Amino acid sequence: MSGGTRVLVLNAGSSSVKYQLIDMLDGTRAAAGLVERIGERGGRLAHTPPDGGRREVLADFPDHTAALSSMAAQLELDGMGLDSPELAAVGHRVVHGGQRFTEPTLVTDEVLDHIRLLIPVAPLHNPANIAGIEVARRLRPDLPQVAVFDTAFHATLPEPAARYAIDRRTADAYRVRRYGFHGTSHQYVSRETARLLGRDPAEVNVIVLHLGNGASASAVAGGVCVETSMGLTPLEGLVMGTRSGDADPGLVFHLHRVGGLTIDEIDDLLNRRSGLLGLCGDNDMREVLRRSEEGDEEARLAFDAYVHRLRKYIGAYYAVLGRVDAIVFTAGVGENAAPVREAACAGLQALGIELDPELNEVRSGEARVVSRAYSRVTVAVVPTDEELEIARQSFALVRGA
Ligand code: AMP
Repeated sequence: MSGGTRVLVLNAGSSSVKYQLIDMLDGTRAAAGLVERIGERGGRLAHTPPDGGRREVLADFPDHTAALSSMAAQLELDGMGLDSPELAAVGHRVVHGGQRFTEPTLVTDEVLDHIRLLIPVAPLHNPANIAGIEVARRLRPDLPQVAVFDTAFHATLPEPAARYAIDRRTADAYRVRRYGFHGTSHQYVSRETARLLGRDPAEVNVIVLHLGNGASASAVAGGVCVETSMGLTPLEGLVMGTRSGDADPGLVFHLHRVGGLTIDEIDDLLNRRSGLLGLCGDNDMREVLRRSEEGDEEARLAFDAYVHRLRKYIGAYYAVLGRVDAIVFTAGVGENAAPVREAACAGLQALGIELDPELNEVRSGEARVVSRAYSRVTVAVVPTDEELEIARQSFALVRGA
């Protein structure tokens, strides 16, 4: 085992890789960067070295090997290459862990084979995550590689919440069940919320609203996830930037039989041309807010539909939890869009939810309470940090903590 105190966190997507080198002594970023347009022409690597500033590499990155080699060269320039003894582990974000991976896991050949077996349930994500792991293993074979799964925190979903009400045998044959995603964020944010309240996570019930371009809600009871809004795939649940969220599965048959759309076209419609984008032509909440303030009716409807769905989930998760100590907003929209928080909490005084309009308007990068002192349910904004959580879990695993 290495005696290092740094963890390199890799988040490999199909055409991009995000990376952060995190010092576990204080949680600071020693370096960070993003490689884009992998496998296309005109790739770009943007690197933030330890002294701040920024370096850019404009080149073609034909595959993940080329991208990660270029990242390694940048870290080398900072004197923090992959051969650095200060590196304790590489922590990989892996989207789908199926039912097997419910904890951060040290990568072995057998583990990698199992992650490959899960490609059919995460065809867009797991192949890229696997590529990231393979290249990192090749670049530094002796270094522990840890896989941290987006689904893991939701593995505790009780069976009635995890099952779709469809034929059991069919469901089991094709691994159809509700897995949930964004788990690393829900885990981090629910724990940070307990810390903000000055309470033990085992004592608090929290509704976490992760509202980014993708969006999901979860109900966390005493640190254990008991419900979440994404399901077999990240399509279920809230209205998102480009995804529809909940919709009658019957609309798939309707669009196919009556509209003549193919399965691939419907997939594209629901995943990439729906949500805010489908309703008003913009998937960025900033634009939606700006346009609706100017009286644009399509944008207003998109905002209202987004908030309506959110409120339905708040009510549902209130019922699931029975007692709610905190409702917490996180990710791009949740952390920044005061009007979304205001509309989501409006008129819920009977549920003990009393937003403080002034605190809600304060802009800050810190975790903070935005409800009135006497609100029975605390409403909070807690910035998410999935990379730090991946680094913490990876470090704890290699240190045997
Ligand atoms: P994320 O996926 O967490 O990076 O969130 C990205 C989304 O956050 C963007 O698509 C925007 O819709 C939203 N966002 C970021 N900043 C703001 C802001 N100041 N106000 C409203 N929405 C924002």
